[in-house]
Amino acid sequence: MSRVAVVTGGTRGIGRAISEALKGAGYTVAANYATSHEPAKQFTAETGIRAFCFDVSDFKSCEAGVKRIEADLGPIDILVNNAGITRDAVLHRMTPEQWQAVIACNLTSCFNMCRLVIEGMRTRGFGRIVNIGSINGQAGQYGQANYAAAKSGIHGFTKALAQESAAKGITVNAIAPGYIDTEMVRAVPEDVLKKIVARIPIGRLGHADEIARGVLFLVADEATFVTGSTLSINGGQHMY
Ligand code: NDP
Repeated sequence: MSRVAVVTGGTRGIGRAISEALKGAGYTVAANYATSHEPAKQFTAETGIRAFCFDVSDFKSCEAGVKRIEADLGPIDILVNNAGITRDAVLHRMTPEQWQAVIACNLTSCFNMCRLVIEGMRTRGFGRIVNIGSINGQAGQYGQANYAAAKSGIHGFTKALAQESAAKGITVNAIAPGYIDTEMVRAVPEDVLKKIVARIPIGRLGHADEIARGVLFLVADEATFVTGSTLSINGGQHMY
């Protein structure tokens, strides 16, 4: 039986590339999404990967989603916390709603999903968790105090959970993507994007499948000695 992997926000953008790469490597994949039903249907028709609609920012919704996935596909061995949103504004104009939406979707989602799978992983003595952070969680970004705080929080969360889980055969790692060519980045104004690309030593945006390759490495059965780490995949834009 192949291992069961869940990818949150797995039907579009980086998440879609991760879902497809995992399927290609022989995993049984469940891709989660929130509201875009038509693209999710199309995704399933094109890839044969089942899509599960639930809101990662809400614990009860995650609970119902995880229950459905486990009933349909079996216990979850691999969790990729990829779902994320931006609600950009400089702090002196940021609303409490913009703050809370970004923290809930990007960070609280990691608690929600990990909390729901961690006990099963501990009991079975195996688990792989990959949390998708961001270069902007490492370096900060103008107009993104909410997003940078959430992503930076993911990096701390990852290290704490890695320590708690190491003795149980569970690894917990993060990936910090740089600027990747997805709808999220296409929403950035063109002149701003040009300036961003000019600061990437490799001289281009990243591709979603370049993040997926990192996930495949981290979730492999053989990757037993990699935990609590952050893999930066950013074309050399931020090194530390
Ligand atoms: P996209 O906007 O292309 O896709 C986001 C995905 O997340 C969609 O599938 C969306 O579902 C899902 N989603 C959003 N909110 C929720 C929710 N509440 N519950 C469940 N699913 C949800 O994003 P990207 O592919 O660009 O980004 C993926 C991840 O990578 C994010 O965490 C992002 O912060 C991070 N990242 C992206 C970078 C980039 O350059 N693109 C750079 C660094 C990090 P639906 O289709 O239903 O809306």
